[in-house]
Amino acid sequence: MTVEVAERLKLLPPYLFKELDRLRDEVKASGVDIIDFGVGDPDLPTPAHIIEALKQAVDDPSTHRYPSYSGMNDFRDCVAGWYEKRFGVELDPSSEVIVLIGSKEGIAHIPLAFVNPGDTVLVPSPSYPVYHTGTILAGGESFFMPLLEKNGFLPDLKQIPEEVASSAKLMFINYPNNPTSAVADKQFFEMVVNFARKHDIIVCHDAAYSELAFDGYIPPSFLEVDGAKDVGIEFHSLSKTYNMTGWRLGFAVGNSDIIKALGQVKSNIDSGAFNAIQKAGIVALEGNQDCVSEMCRIYEERRDVLLKGLDEVGLNAAKPKATFYVWCKIPHGTTSTEFSMKLLKEAGIVTTPGNGFGEPGEGYIRFALTVPKERIEEAIERLRKLKF
Ligand SMILES: *Cc1c(COP(=O)(O)O)cnc(C)c1O
Repeated sequence: MTVEVAERLKLLPPYLFKELDRLRDEVKASGVDIIDFGVGDPDLPTPAHIIEALKQAVDDPSTHRYPSYSGMNDFRDCVAGWYEKRFGVELDPSSEVIVLIGSKEGIAHIPLAFVNPGDTVLVPSPSYPVYHTGTILAGGESFFMPLLEKNGFLPDLKQIPEEVASSAKLMFINYPNNPTSAVADKQFFEMVVNFARKHDIIVCHDAAYSELAFDGYIPPSFLEVDGAKDVGIEFHSLSKTYNMTGWRLGFAVGNSDIIKALGQVKSNIDSGAFNAIQKAGIVALEGNQDCVSEMCRIYEERRDVLLKGLDEVGLNAAKPKATFYVWCKIPHGTTSTEFSMKLLKEAGIVTTPGNGFGEPGEGYIRFALTVPKERIEEAIERLRKLKF
């Protein structure tokens, strides 16, 4: 039998890093000690009190049954409390909060709730790939909003053609941003709310890095802006805040009609997040937040070591105020992929080529600060020996 996949799978973008992955495996196999700045997956463990809470919750047989579709009441109450305390935003836990099996799950599913075949979705570029692939799986088409340095890596809404804006159904934004590490202020969110109102566009703000900030900077919520709850929702994740990427726990909050439609999709696809994990999630969000400040302190230190080193070897990167990424310019006369390959072949350093996140990411590579300080210092030593 020939297995013929559906058109929607054929429409997914090709995986750009095949050659780079092959090269990494080859370099590794040859015995080189690889320093991997590639994947954005925290190397630090989940804080002990959260692990302890999970152990206790697993011992309670009531957690072993099917969870409720929209999430445990206690977890949704906890999210509403956290929002009030952290952002000063009031949420109705029964209609304005939904639990997700990691925020990626919700981001991938939201287009199924609103996008008809051929509908336009506004997607930043470069960006987290799921905004575009979720759009494609729903039969939609992405209109890419370039994130350029000259605009502080914010989309320039004035550059979106009138006919695109008036036909767009959904818009994704993400601040603090992966991969550029840019941040957005409330003024930008106000512009987004006005734009969305004018054109009837549902805004989906991905705030996965809202708690990962440096130098005293405190990222705002999209929902802090007047009118935001009329036009959109915000996605959150426990993955990056509490080093819980493997646990799969996130949530979406905001406009109740949007949350309800996302819930309708989800109730037909999944059966919710494991209750024991939600119980541990409550302990994470309500417990002592010193673990978060300590994590930020560690990333901040790593950031400073890497930036100082990059500067010394003549590579140019802006100092991130948030996220664990460094978005680094590459030397003239080379491409992101070529430069990543050079770092891998000549120094055993893995980075992600910026164009893999979208064409406007060409000219950059991304370092994830998920590598201990000593290894970053070692990487800098290796870079010193290279000629750019
Ligand atoms: C890591 C990441 C997520 C996904 O997090 P999960 O909750 O683990 O699914 C979402 N958005 C961005 C921008 C990310 O970098």
